[in-house]
Amino acid sequence: MSNGAGGTGGGGNGGGGLRFSSTSTTSTASEAAASRAGLGQFEPAWTKEDEEAVKAAAASSVAVPVFESSSDSSPSSKALQPPPPPLLLSMSADELKALAVEHGESAYRGTQVFDSITKGASTIEEIRGIPAGWKAKLSEKGFSVGRAALHSSALSGDGTQKLLLRLSDGHVVETVGIPSRDGTRLTVCVSSQMRCPMRCSFCATGKGGYARNLTKAEIVGQVIAVRSAFEERARAKAAASSPPNSSSSKLIPTRVSNVVFMGMGEPALNLKAVLPALREINSRLGVGARRLTLSTVGVPNTIATRLAAENLQFTLAVSLHAPSQELRERLVPSARAYPLDALLNDCVAYFEASGGRRVTFEYALLSGVNDSQSHAAQLARLLKRYDLRSHVNLIPFNPIGELSPFAAPPRAVAAAFEAALTAAGVPASVRGARGSDASAACGQLRNEHQKRGAALEPLVLGGGGAATVATALV
Ligand code: SAH
Repeated sequence: MSNGAGGTGGGGNGGGGLRFSSTSTTSTASEAAASRAGLGQFEPAWTKEDEEAVKAAAASSVAVPVFESSSDSSPSSKALQPPPPPLLLSMSADELKALAVEHGESAYRGTQVFDSITKGASTIEEIRGIPAGWKAKLSEKGFSVGRAALHSSALSGDGTQKLLLRLSDGHVVETVGIPSRDGTRLTVCVSSQMRCPMRCSFCATGKGGYARNLTKAEIVGQVIAVRSAFEERARAKAAASSPPNSSSSKLIPTRVSNVVFMGMGEPALNLKAVLPALREINSRLGVGARRLTLSTVGVPNTIATRLAAENLQFTLAVSLHAPSQELRERLVPSARAYPLDALLNDCVAYFEASGGRRVTFEYALLSGVNDSQSHAAQLARLLKRYDLRSHVNLIPFNPIGELSPFAAPPRAVAAAFEAALTAAGVPASVRGARGSDASAACGQLRNEHQKRGAALEPLVLGGGGAATVATALV
């Protein structure tokens, strides 16, 4: 059961007029099919309550104040306090220039603040170039940069690094940096929500209930935090001066080349923050638009409308996971409210309305559930019927470390699935998993705080086992 959307924040409809069609909360046929496949108790229902939670997530902006709480938080003192100033990280270059002028500094000082924060300054003290007097004034007036504090990080044997970032309200969000094997590219996998209300049956993030949408600054801050962590590793490695050409001399990339919205959460429920974050990651952090990917399981009235209307040439990835409505409902509970047919028609409309931007599809391969040759043939037929011969990314299931009926198919089965799609004229590739020994692979992200109980202990690394499966679609 979802614990509701929380949400005291107001205003805006991140889902762009979200309307779900009528839902069937129980389906005898699909229940019977699920129990035949041994999935019975794991097949999540899709209840009115879920639907309300998802609608509330889409409608909420940010559920909690994003400022550090003051020492006196009694309601009466709160009522008397002026609203806290905006976070410096959330302000544009123009807003910072105006702030500098308002504080009696030259506009250029505002540009220095903007550039410094872009480069990684995480406190006012770390901002370069501006006079100490202005720093003191900023702090005195209650300004702060607003970057989440690093709680802990875990490094995988393949160089993938997962960061746990503690947000100002105490929530701990997970983000991952994935270096390419040759060390020339760095992909950052960002979270868009604190956990997720969609509850796909094989995904860890949906377990335990949705908390809230993240802000633009909290999303952009994840990219900066990962880049800083990789810079630190690169510096430490240079200081240790390992002999050239030794196996440990593999490059540690420090320039973010790709950003994928494939961490915790459903980005299409938080477009109010996600779309500005995409634009800022492109314009401020210099990540090419075509190297940005938004992954969605499908939220009504977002794909053919708001996503299609967005000018940025990002890649849209749609999580399908099944070639039929019946099977998809069992894996993706929200499919009951947004049938496959409507989803794929919206993908066609997206292609047309966006001026020809292709959609890619994700398909988690679950052994014995959706990985047979007939599933592959059915999938090819389906995508051709909608004239959607886009690339299919096959993601072998990543174990999520708890009682789960799912397993990854043997390598040969995944390869045969890929071959069947390709032979049928649908380009496909099996993605290799990265970061799985640091619980950083696809679908493994889940609030560590929740997983471990109340005490936030530093992460214990996965023991350097080979990174088996694949993560983000690098
Ligand atoms: N909410 C977005 C982002 C989810 S993460 C979406 O649904 O698209 C990115 C991809 O990883 C999605 O396709 C998701 O279904 C998939 N995924 C989730 N858990 C997984 C797991 N345990 N193994 C493999 N893929 C998984």
